Amino acid sequence: MTQNNAAPALRVRDLRKTYDNGVQALQGVSLDVTPGDFFALLGPNGAGKSTLIGIVSSLVNKSAGSVEVFGIDVTRERSAAMRQIGLVPQEFNFNMFEKPLDICVNYAGFYGLPRAQALARAEVVLKEAQLWDKADKVSRSLSGGMKRRLMIARAMMTRPKLLILDEPTAGVDIEIRRGMWTTLQQINAAGTTIILTTHYLEEAESLCRNLAIIDHGRIVEQGPMKTLLAKLDVEGFLFDIEGELPAVLPQIEGASLRASDAHTLELDMPRAMDLNRVFAAFETTGIRVRSMRTKSNRLEELFVRMTAREGASA
Ligand code: ADP
Repeated sequence: MTQNNAAPALRVRDLRKTYDNGVQALQGVSLDVTPGDFFALLGPNGAGKSTLIGIVSSLVNKSAGSVEVFGIDVTRERSAAMRQIGLVPQEFNFNMFEKPLDICVNYAGFYGLPRAQALARAEVVLKEAQLWDKADKVSRSLSGGMKRRLMIARAMMTRPKLLILDEPTAGVDIEIRRGMWTTLQQINAAGTTIILTTHYLEEAESLCRNLAIIDHGRIVEQGPMKTLLAKLDVEGFLFDIEGELPAVLPQIEGASLRASDAHTLELDMPRAMDLNRVFAAFETTGIRVRSMRTKSNRLEELFVRMTAREGASA
């Protein structure tokens, strides 16, 4: 086995997937997730999120490209790669008539864990998921939030180094979502790398350190959450200027001003900043504004589109 502790938790290069019906679900996706990260894969419905994690967890065959989990190639060393991963699918897929304890113990049995060890491990994961007092109740009687936490607990039975969750909170009310967030934060703090797909920006913002935004099978943004949120918080304007621009443009603290041509100024400023400061600076340097308009921001546009689509499908 070629497991390498210095390797990224996930390394995806030029990944492509064309389904039999011709849909190009992934069109050259590359991304890296570092060990210990809490990573969000954000994108609207149909963007390619499930396809991507399906390939990472060996449930879907890729058309081209490569995927490594902790340095293990998912195609060449499929079962070794799968042992690194715990997958929490969107739909409940446990037997509702079984008890949480049996669901966890039997799951570990598939992976060859002896029963005594599985029982000890089940106590740990069910306590982490605040389900220990329900361990012997029929799962059907659990609340929706508890059932979701049971899915997480079960995936943690095999001590995966990478926990992947496919839209774990889609259509779930905020209280239940918060309960799941606490469980996930504890799991991550204990060292497990987490990748979460979601179409809730707020969820990614509360939980994740890094994210990639996927749309139409392509990564459109990737980086630290803080950097991307700072971008989202910036407003851009274009000013059409009357006459000549001064030789030296005014400095406006906290904002960035540049000439995009002889009669147009381009300004990026924090959303909270007062535009009057900009006009005052223009006045002192003799800049006369004929008209202004907002510049569209790629990230923001994307989110507007995402919300529009969500609204359309609601
Ligand atoms: P997401 O998880 O972001 O909603 P998916 O990965 O499920 O996106 O889907 C990406 C695209 O691939 C969509 O256009 C979807 O209709 C298509 N797709 C997904 N699964 C299949 C499949 N099994 N066969 C054909 N097309 C599929």
